[in-house]
Amino acid sequence: MPFWSTPKTSLNQRLRLGLGTMLVPLLMLAAGAVISFEGALDSFRKHDNVGREALFPLAHVEGLLLDLNVVASPVEPSRSITWSEYQLKSQAIEASLARLLEFSHQDPHKFNSVQEIQRKWHRISQLCQQILDPSVAQSGKGLSEPARVELQEQLKMILQNVQQLNYRLIAFQNDANANHAEAVRKEVRQMIAMICGLALMLAVVFAYGLTRSITVPLQSLEDGVEKLGKGDLSHRISLAADAEFSHLAATFNLMATKLEQSQQDLYRLATLDGLTEVYNRREFNRWLRVEVEKSQRNTDQVSLIMVDIDHFKQLNDTYGHQAGDLALCEVAQLLQREVRPGDIVCRYGGEEFAVILPKTNHDDSVAIADRIRLAIAEEAIILPSLQQIEMTASLGVATFPGDAQTKEHLIKQADQALYGAKTSGRNRVHQAQQNVVENQVVV
Ligand code: GH3
Ligand code: MG
Ligand code: MG
Repeated sequence: MPFWSTPKTSLNQRLRLGLGTMLVPLLMLAAGAVISFEGALDSFRKHDNVGREALFPLAHVEGLLLDLNVVASPVEPSRSITWSEYQLKSQAIEASLARLLEFSHQDPHKFNSVQEIQRKWHRISQLCQQILDPSVAQSGKGLSEPARVELQEQLKMILQNVQQLNYRLIAFQNDANANHAEAVRKEVRQMIAMICGLALMLAVVFAYGLTRSITVPLQSLEDGVEKLGKGDLSHRISLAADAEFSHLAATFNLMATKLEQSQQDLYRLATLDGLTEVYNRREFNRWLRVEVEKSQRNTDQVSLIMVDIDHFKQLNDTYGHQAGDLALCEVAQLLQREVRPGDIVCRYGGEEFAVILPKTNHDDSVAIADRIRLAIAEEAIILPSLQQIEMTASLGVATFPGDAQTKEHLIKQADQALYGAKTSGRNRVHQAQQNVVENQVVV
């Protein structure tokens, strides 16, 4: 799980961690630059040393050859060198020339120059032997003077050759250094580009993570507030995020729960009857309008049953108002039990109830009304004093559109049918139009 979605990391911590980790690419860049710079210098130094190695033996040869000038000089024979000293110098020259050959065998120009120097050296060494070797010098008396002259000449020429080779080696070294510098420059450039790319990638990843760790919970909160604003009070925000956001989400959820609760309370207060908890008169009017309009659109029938408890005043007077309230609640529950889930039970007022029966025709609604009448008559209400109360009710039934053309007309028709049931003896169901007695109990 990335650090930005770890629930325990707070926003504060994540911001600090995120900004801190964004320094990593910068450090990488700095370290990369130092390493590349040092590496380039080191490589350049090594390369330069290798190149210069060829110059040392050449300088050595030059110095030794200059020492031999005294052998060729007729002026100061006293300062000349001995045969054994010469032999040592000769060995050193040979060794240095061998090393030079070794260094230059890849370059034919240099190789030829060294070979030329070697050839001249052979002649010089023959001349030096003639002059300095005691055994040869004894037998070849009189030859030393011309040998010295030639030696002078040969030394002059070989020194020129050495000088030329020296220039050539330096020029070659400069070229090689320039080429090497170019190669190192390319390498360093590639390395810096690679580090920059990597650093940029890391910076993008960290920045993305940090941004998402803030925007995702914020989006969730924003969505929640928007849904709440549009009236969806059941919406809750679920955030597995850090302290700050989860605290905000918890506060939001608490607020939404309270709002939802208040809305439910308001809805109950506005729509339900406080005593019986069935729909109140206002809701009755709204539901009846809705169902009548539906019936007009779908050509379905909708029926209305008005229920009025018989001699309810008498019940109140005999058993008390509380017993009357209990009886009203029992009747409301009974009505809800006796009808289908889609039917709408309302308290019309006082001890009168109304039941709206959507998609119910005249005959069915009369049958339902009679079932209700029978159920009320059979229900015995037991008071807290264990006294039993028996009740009856009168019912009026009307059906839209058969009995009425409007909602108000339907109510009037059902009311008139109820009035008919009352006046013709109570505990009976009357239907509208003909105001016919459908069912009645013979007392
Ligand atoms: P009828 O058979 O003609 O309907 O006679 P009734 O006594 O039932 O009718 P009436 O209209 O004379 O009396 C209705 C009574 O219902 C009067 C009123 O005190 C009582 N009542 C209305 N609302 C409530 C209520 O919420 N609680 C109680 N206990 N009684 C109520
Ligand atoms: Mg009444
Ligand atoms: Mg009554």
